[in-house]
Amino acid sequence: MDSDIAALQEALLRPELRAGKAYHVADARGMVKLDAMENPYGLPEDLRASWLARLREAPLNRYPEPRPEALLAALAHHGGIPADQALMLGNGSDELIQLLILAVAHTGRPVLALEPSFVMYRIIAEHFGLPFVGVALDDDFQLDLSQFLREMATQRPAIVFLDWPNNPSGQCLPEATLEAIVAAAPGLVVVDEAYHPFSGLSFAQQLGHYPNLLLLRTLSKEGLAGLRLGYLAGPRPWIEVLDRLRLPYNINVLSQLSLDFFLTHADLLAEQADAICRERERLTAALQALGLKVWPSRANFLLFHCPGRAAAIHAGLRERGVLIRAFTGHPRLGDHLRVSVGTPVENQRFLTALENLL
Ligand code: PMP
Repeated sequence: MDSDIAALQEALLRPELRAGKAYHVADARGMVKLDAMENPYGLPEDLRASWLARLREAPLNRYPEPRPEALLAALAHHGGIPADQALMLGNGSDELIQLLILAVAHTGRPVLALEPSFVMYRIIAEHFGLPFVGVALDDDFQLDLSQFLREMATQRPAIVFLDWPNNPSGQCLPEATLEAIVAAAPGLVVVDEAYHPFSGLSFAQQLGHYPNLLLLRTLSKEGLAGLRLGYLAGPRPWIEVLDRLRLPYNINVLSQLSLDFFLTHADLLAEQADAICRERERLTAALQALGLKVWPSRANFLLFHCPGRAAAIHAGLRERGVLIRAFTGHPRLGDHLRVSVGTPVENQRFLTALENLL
């Protein structure tokens, strides 16, 4: 039986898929979880009760609305998306990255992004058998724009993904750099503003000024990671055509009701984002006081440098019940660790454990 399966897989599947590994998610049970850029604050009890009451309305026997227009309009308003731009929802922004790459896969042209940047751009490009080109950031995670433009002219990518702020550095390219890239790109440019609630910056006002610009957002980081909701915004002709690739009922009834609920309580999420930004500054200063190099972050996480001892520190923190992100074996990031900003209590547990280890 196993050998029959192996023979079938060899005949049917690409070698990269057969050789690859599943996306790794560390076991976080019982840990202070600072590895995945989640909002650490739950819901206050009264709000939780009214959310649950709202979910009781859910018609579970019916398919969800395929294009919930009123919800999309409310979301556009919440996200500061210009009113003349269109929107579509994804089951997390991951799904929208997949759908964008699916749309252009037939061209065989590369997907291009910063290196390092969010790992799913590369993983999904590889799933579709497309080449991935990563343009290296320098030692301080800054970009050489002329090198990037040269690479874009040679490679002619179908899509460029720019995470803004960048994951994992937390930094934002200058706005003029983004504009130069969008103006020169031979294909689509997707500005991925996953960390927008913490950056104080947005490229949304540029939508509609370029024929090739789209904006990607997620509600994961501002507090709804469990719901899996992301959105893509941009000119109507793009959203209309991409929407044909979306599975009709990709956003379930519970997620739609929850989104509607949270959009009417957005002030709570905004307050939590402010608290995270304040903690980010405190945590940056505390890490610097421990003698560590920390990159200034506009996101809800910090990248710091631990030359020669990143793996040991990561393991030591784990033993002390604190989970952060290591990049073991990564040629560029191997000496770095990334910590998500938690609650003041969680951050203190992290800092105390780290201080003991250093
Ligand atoms: N874009 C960036 C830059 C990210 O860092 C992440 C999550 N780590 C995502 C997109 C995906 O977010 P989600 O699928 O939860 O919407």
